[in-house]
Amino acid sequence: MDFSTFELHPRIEAGVRAQGYDTPTPIQAKAIPPALEGADILGLAQTGTGKTAAFALPILDYLIDGPRTRVRALVIAPTRELTHQIHTAFSALGAKTGLRSVPIYGGVNINPQIRRLQGGAEIVVACPGRLLDHLQQGTVELSDVEVFVLDEADRLFDMGFLPDIRRILTRLPENRQTLLFSATMPPDIRKLATEILFDPVMIEVDRARPAETVAHAIYPVAEEEKGEALVQLLYRSETESVLVFTRTKRRAKRVAAGLVSAGFDATCLQGNLSQRRRQEALDGFRSGKYPILVATDIAARGIDVSSISHVINYDMPDTVDAYTHRIGRTGRAARTGDAFTLVTPADASAVRAIERMMGCRLERRPLDALQSSPVNGRAAVDPVPRRSPRPRPVSRREESGTPAPRRRRRRGGQSKRDGRAGSAVHSATFAAAGRRGARSRGRPRSRSPRRLP
Ligand code: AMP
Repeated sequence: MDFSTFELHPRIEAGVRAQGYDTPTPIQAKAIPPALEGADILGLAQTGTGKTAAFALPILDYLIDGPRTRVRALVIAPTRELTHQIHTAFSALGAKTGLRSVPIYGGVNINPQIRRLQGGAEIVVACPGRLLDHLQQGTVELSDVEVFVLDEADRLFDMGFLPDIRRILTRLPENRQTLLFSATMPPDIRKLATEILFDPVMIEVDRARPAETVAHAIYPVAEEEKGEALVQLLYRSETESVLVFTRTKRRAKRVAAGLVSAGFDATCLQGNLSQRRRQEALDGFRSGKYPILVATDIAARGIDVSSISHVINYDMPDTVDAYTHRIGRTGRAARTGDAFTLVTPADASAVRAIERMMGCRLERRPLDALQSSPVNGRAAVDPVPRRSPRPRPVSRREESGTPAPRRRRRRGGQSKRDGRAGSAVHSATFAAAGRRGARSRGRPRSRSPRRLP
């Protein structure tokens, strides 16, 4: 199957080609045809499956021929990052359509958003809180909305946005197309879905299971060994870009600081940062300036970096769903990825729950083996950079124990002795950092939706 099957408008097909998409992902193959027909959709799909284009393409196709300069499509998403990412997808896929999308989220000055809305837009992608601000100020008008999308509905619920969503719903026309996407289907979402969707087409893709392109491993450690374990993992693994998850904002900050002190180019993304600093961290991670990003679950929502090679759970996630969400950041769109989790004895029941969800036992890798592996043995005599531009990747060949070419000499020509000291610095730095840290659509209903076979 290719995208021509959908018979999208040629200008939208051009946008698809420009993005380099050849084959529709499973959610696109399932969702685009009924969405083009005007059907409501209930989509169970995790992040990284291509669901943004699954709703963006039918929306662009519908809007391209209709009236301009009024808001005809509204997408609600839980975080600024996801909002921005969806807006970017609309802009890229619809680059040749002349349709305009405006991202709306809090934490930034409202006036530029008002100006963009006044300039005329057909698509609004919004976080609920700031959208309500605009509604109260009368700076956005939703009475012409024909397509409404609720993306990552389970997260919107988790974050307490349900009352806001209900208020927004009162401002939308009843006759509209509604598309609801969620990675999981807890009872609250099911209830909302029955209230707001009309005879929906149900679509399910890889329900609540991480992509099969991801390899999972767990490293049993004591809590106090985590810092050193993380450093070892980063040195011993062939990484491109690494997303490290912590349980709290404070821990994210502390772990990132520890990595920086240990010579890694790491940055952190957590809810206490200003919008400018969040964007800087994200842009730096995307561009490769920071190959390591340490983040909390909520801050990491909507991170769309397709080359994430490793997700490392520094702390075990709270729920199996959170594990799925985190791991969904790697192995995206048919790339391969690795998911490592540092596991303390207190995490035993969480590990069992993840294994039940995965339907298989997670590979245990003792940290000792990592430290006494041939790779590590060589590291004991090789210099470990105090400050290298990037953590040195280890090739897959090296990981499997096959002798590898000696690595190039670091900048600055540190001595071997320095290197060993460097290892000690890692632990000390982490410990020090730790101590410091201790502080319808308007398509008429009569156009009965065509079901997929
Ligand atoms: P999403 O699940 O929408 O966040 O998409 C995950 C990633 O897959 C994004 O980087 C998209 O640009 C990419 N993507 C979406 N659809 C396709 C496709 N058909 N072929 C290749 N990559 C895609």
